[in-house]
Amino acid sequence: INTRAFEHLALEASLRRAIEKDEFVLHFQPLISSQSHRAVAVEALVRWEHPELGMVSPARFIPMAEETGLIVPMGQLVMEKACRAFAENWTSDDGLEYISVNVSARQFFQEGFLDMVDSTLEKTGMEPRHLELELTESVFIQDVDRTVELLDQLRKKGVKLAIDDFGTGFSSLSYLKRFPLGTLKIDQSFIKDVHRNQDDLAIVRAIIALARAMKLRIVAEGVETEDQSALLIGEGCNILQGYLFSRPLPLLELNSFLTSSVS
Ligand code: C2E
Ligand code: CA
Ligand code: CA
Repeated sequence: INTRAFEHLALEASLRRAIEKDEFVLHFQPLISSQSHRAVAVEALVRWEHPELGMVSPARFIPMAEETGLIVPMGQLVMEKACRAFAENWTSDDGLEYISVNVSARQFFQEGFLDMVDSTLEKTGMEPRHLELELTESVFIQDVDRTVELLDQLRKKGVKLAIDDFGTGFSSLSYLKRFPLGTLKIDQSFIKDVHRNQDDLAIVRAIIALARAMKLRIVAEGVETEDQSALLIGEGCNILQGYLFSRPLPLLELNSFLTSSVS
């Protein structure tokens, strides 16, 4: 058995243990309205508090979780934590309309996904309209009829739906018409150089025009500078997310951020 295979097995075993012991925590990154300059939503981003390694970033374990199917129980833990956080913290007047949760394709197509969403909403006392699911294009290139069916059911419940990392996949644009989406998130790779690269600017403009014409909420991800922010607002982007405003924060820090940005 070679070293890589061994590391792989070790990681898989510790990921299983992490699920049993619930070693996951959520950080929350605010999404800022370009009109009010206040947070209108938060995205839940999972972190693994590994007993020896410390905080492990999702880039390191999500691919393995997908491969092994452990994404299903992990995703369930994440959804429950996200709904509970929203229902317990932000229902009153701090301006947050919803929390966004990342859902992987494997999790989305798993038998019983809709029942899991229902029972999570019920268990946590969360209103469906306060929950948004972020799906990537990898979902939309699979079984189209099944996808339409699942998305319609979620939409009927009142859950919001977003397409994440828009522009990076290989799917056709026709799904924008077929699927009941509410939000389109422009991938960070187009935002990075948008203020100095004409091609990126052209792509971002086209995405914003498309989203506006289809009445979708537009979120620009990975906004790090004032230049990017000013340009995106000028182009008509409704919502901005990125380090310029805040990194993903633990719950208490997010609450301080929300309180301080109210004044
Ligand atoms: P994503 O959904 O595209 O999330 C945005 C990522 O960009 C986050 O990385 C966030 O910390 C980072 N980010 C935010 N603002 C900026 C910025 O201004 N500049 C830069 N350079 N980066 C920024 P994170 O938290 O490491 O998550 C990475 C990916 O892992 C996520 O990408 C998502 O695909 C996946 N992920 C995270 N949490 C979950 C989860 O609960 N379930 C699933 N299935 N996937 C998750
Ligand atoms: Ca996301
Ligand atoms: Ca994204």
